[in-house]
Amino acid sequence: MKYVSTRGKITKDNAFSSAEAIKLGLAADGGLFMPEQFPAITMADIKSMIPMSYAERAYFILSKYLTDYPEDMLKKACREAYSEDRFPGGPAPVVKVKEDLYSLELWHGPTCAFKDEALQIMPKLLSGALKITNEDKEALILVATSGDTGKAALEGYMDVDQVKIMVFYPSDGVSAIQKLQMATQSGKNVGVCAVKGNFDDAQSGVKKIFSDPDAAAALSKKGCFFSSANSINWGRLVPQIVYYVSAYCDLLQKGDVREGEQIVFCVPTGNFGNILAAYIAKQMGLPIKKLICASNRNNVLTDFIKTGTYDRMRTFYPTMSPSMDILISSNLERLLYLLSDTTACARYMKDLAEKGSYTVSDELLLKIKDVFAGEFADEAECAKTIADTYNKYGYLCDPHTAVGIAAANKSETDGYKVVVASTASPYKFARDVYASLGGNEIDSDFDAIEKLSRLTGTSIPAPIALLKAKEVRFSDVIDPSDMLKYTLSKLD
Ligand SMILES: *Cc1c(COP(=O)(O)O)cnc(C)c1O
Repeated sequence: MKYVSTRGKITKDNAFSSAEAIKLGLAADGGLFMPEQFPAITMADIKSMIPMSYAERAYFILSKYLTDYPEDMLKKACREAYSEDRFPGGPAPVVKVKEDLYSLELWHGPTCAFKDEALQIMPKLLSGALKITNEDKEALILVATSGDTGKAALEGYMDVDQVKIMVFYPSDGVSAIQKLQMATQSGKNVGVCAVKGNFDDAQSGVKKIFSDPDAAAALSKKGCFFSSANSINWGRLVPQIVYYVSAYCDLLQKGDVREGEQIVFCVPTGNFGNILAAYIAKQMGLPIKKLICASNRNNVLTDFIKTGTYDRMRTFYPTMSPSMDILISSNLERLLYLLSDTTACARYMKDLAEKGSYTVSDELLLKIKDVFAGEFADEAECAKTIADTYNKYGYLCDPHTAVGIAAANKSETDGYKVVVASTASPYKFARDVYASLGGNEIDSDFDAIEKLSRLTGTSIPAPIALLKAKEVRFSDVIDPSDMLKYTLSKLD
């Protein structure tokens, strides 16, 4: 399988291998890597996957895309990434919420959010790519995080061969739990540092380092090169296809769907990565009727799917589902490319960069609407959904998942079974979840966690319960202008 760019400068004639695409992250023309075609899976394939473990299902799908990875290497990566040890209770269990509504729980990994699904295996794919391409330098992963990605990347890249990782988070931008999760990170090859300011300051600092030739030269002298763990990397997207296929296998096995029966997936969306993986699963042959793109109050994608105009020039609202507080959904570029062509895709992206908006052709909008529906839930609807879902069905969900459930409830689903991607543990956002259930007098995040557990009789996930006793290893706070100096000093 070869990889081309969404913007037309890397084509069939000069396509890259999967190892090269994963090592580079972004194509040189500014586009994103995509496989030349999608390998097909048949109903017989799906049935053959039913008895498999999740790791085996992952290998079955990944081996169709990462064709230049040796079989042993890929099998080992899948086995280790999706072990019971990393995902107690399994990487992607399907839980019935009520008649015709299921929750695909993607948060049983080490950081209690769905980012673990990709970030547990992607570091292994990167270090494999370094071996396959005979790269002798070390990769330095730089991450600017608003919370979830940083911790998931730290857990994934911890003690991985030939890789170091440095995470910057905004000093006034992450929750107390998220900060503690990062500051207590173990591992020999990890670094964490707070940057004065908000997420944009940290993000701009990282982007500046990435595009600074002097920085690259300084790093090269130390035997390293920069790499990114961002969701625009194909290595983060491809593992996400697996759980959609796996969910269908599980529903089939339990008799909840008939062979070939089409289902609907509803995905709480930010950067459009998770839902794009569902779309790819559909293109491969998974029986999917419709994809519901669920947004919070930052509903740029809902408007886009309804009108064909993507307009990021709007007010940004911080919400209780912060991982979806995004106005530029980078992976949407991949969908535009798939449904139109590289010329149109490059033009839309240019308009977005220059004007902050673009409008797709009527023809393209029809193709998008054929598969996607967009719905959103505001803060009040989100809180009400958390309460209703718990009070009526006994199912406790986090605010991101609640946005998904609210969107599913608002959508016309014509009797099709709906599976909502559940993207975070309710305990990761315990304060808002507890308050949504009517709880008050919350002293601290830990207080909310304990009260939520007492109120609902559910248990606190181990990674969160253990956090309180962990030793803080990282407490540096720097100015954004010192990020490069700081990074280089940590390499000595
Ligand atoms: C990252 C994230 C999302 C959004 O996923 P995208 O792939 O960016 O669309 C939703 N929920 C949670 C909890 C997340 O961490």
